[in-house]
Amino acid sequence: MHNKYKKFILKAIAAITLMVIFLLVVIPVGIISIYPKQMIGKEDTKINKVPEAKYIKVYRHLSGETEKIEFEEYVKGVVAGEMPSTFEMEALKAQAVAARTYALSKIMRSGDSGNPAQHPSAPICDDTHCQVYRDLKELKKLKSEEWMKTGWPRIEKAVESTRGEVMYYQGNLVEQPLFHSSSGGRTENSEDVFVSAVPYLRSVDSPYESEASHKSDVTSFTLSDFKNKIQKAYSDKSFGTVNKNTIAIISRSEGGRVTDIQIGNVTLTGRNIRDTLGLTSANFNISYDSNNIVFTTTGYGHGVGMSQWGANGMAKSGYDYKEILTHYYSGVDIK
Ligand SMILES: [Zn+2]
Repeated sequence: MHNKYKKFILKAIAAITLMVIFLLVVIPVGIISIYPKQMIGKEDTKINKVPEAKYIKVYRHLSGETEKIEFEEYVKGVVAGEMPSTFEMEALKAQAVAARTYALSKIMRSGDSGNPAQHPSAPICDDTHCQVYRDLKELKKLKSEEWMKTGWPRIEKAVESTRGEVMYYQGNLVEQPLFHSSSGGRTENSEDVFVSAVPYLRSVDSPYESEASHKSDVTSFTLSDFKNKIQKAYSDKSFGTVNKNTIAIISRSEGGRVTDIQIGNVTLTGRNIRDTLGLTSANFNISYDSNNIVFTTTGYGHGVGMSQWGANGMAKSGYDYKEILTHYYSGVDIK
């Protein structure tokens, strides 16, 4: 009887020990191995919690399909799609970090689901709606054999030498690392072009744009053609008499883009005019040449965030990619 009792106690101790091991070791390991998958997609973008992305799902507009692409290969395809490979290495590296940051923030925000309105199957797409991405097959068709030998390796180098690096603002992953072709000399505050004020998208000087492709584009219309275009675009408005005496730029943003412009009886925004007339930017001056209204624009694009031509100019003047990024994105850290 006594021996049997002893055996029972030993068995009970063994069972309890096994149970404790199970509770303390097996279950937590199981949870940890499942948990990282669930973490991706949560809105927690704190610096220590942002996971390293291995793949990204990309919606391809031409085929209508969603592709799963190795993350850093995707970044190479964006740099190839968004910046000339002849740009300076430090500018290409800055572009790589901006493109990677944007893509990672899209993954963080949407997780496994996509952009509900535009591409529900993927967090990002391959055209200007998100950022332009070209795969090797497309690049071989679009570019020359020479480009594949000289341009592509430069892009690979820019991406590989900044592998995994993204931008943070006050410890959180940057969500909107916007960029444009050239600012015309000064970039814009985000709220002057888009809706909201973003702390790292502030108006800054962009002094190294002398080689930019759209420095002073001249576009002219006859006054009657101009009036017709505006009236067609804003058919609900009554402009009244439109001539050089009734057209006036009322205000400009810090970066120099026209914010308000009077046309006859109506006030429009510079962006309205840019979109209606197909101008390269809303940073324009108006002059008259006999019966024509002449728009002289500076810069190309919305003017918010990094100027690509400005980045190239900074790189030529000896600045590195981190200096370029912290110049155009106020207060960010690169980690
Ligand atoms: Zn998109």
